[in-house]
Amino acid sequence: MTVQTVIRMGHPTLRRVAKPYPVDNIGSPAFQVLIQDMQETLHAYGGIGLAAPQIDVSYQVAVIEIENTTTRYGELERVPFSVFVNPVISVADGEITGYWEACLSIPGLMGYVERPQHIQIDYLDEAGTAQSLEYQGFMATVFQHEFDHLQGKLYVDRMKDPTQFAFDEEYHTYHVDE
Ligand code: ZN
Repeated sequence: MTVQTVIRMGHPTLRRVAKPYPVDNIGSPAFQVLIQDMQETLHAYGGIGLAAPQIDVSYQVAVIEIENTTTRYGELERVPFSVFVNPVISVADGEITGYWEACLSIPGLMGYVERPQHIQIDYLDEAGTAQSLEYQGFMATVFQHEFDHLQGKLYVDRMKDPTQFAFDEEYHTYHVDE
């Protein structure tokens, strides 16, 4: 398996709506290679989530793994390595909260984004089984960020205030306790 290069903002694949993954191909050798490459790439880059378009594969597949729950976003709930195929988000209630987000495709920068904080996700898991989960708080933001990649969107599209956009170092110096 291979650590793939994470493409960066400006690459056209990040702006394309990804194709739904063909359900009949879930579990195929090509699917297994894609998932393993995404896991290795996520580990190599030290992220908590990765969408297939970020490795220049324009399919609606994302992975999330939070094993080390002490992150730069604070203490998070543990999420074992999980695969989300063709996910759909619905907003469960109207509460909106903001967090500073970072993205492997926008290295070195962070931006403050407000999003719904109670969502339901419907998706196929890596066995092709339909699943439905609800998430609240920061995890709701994590899923919306990752699944936005499948629709050709980046967190910068959702920022309302460009003064809340900072390099990592300046974020940690000037914004971390806001
Ligand atoms: Zn991202």
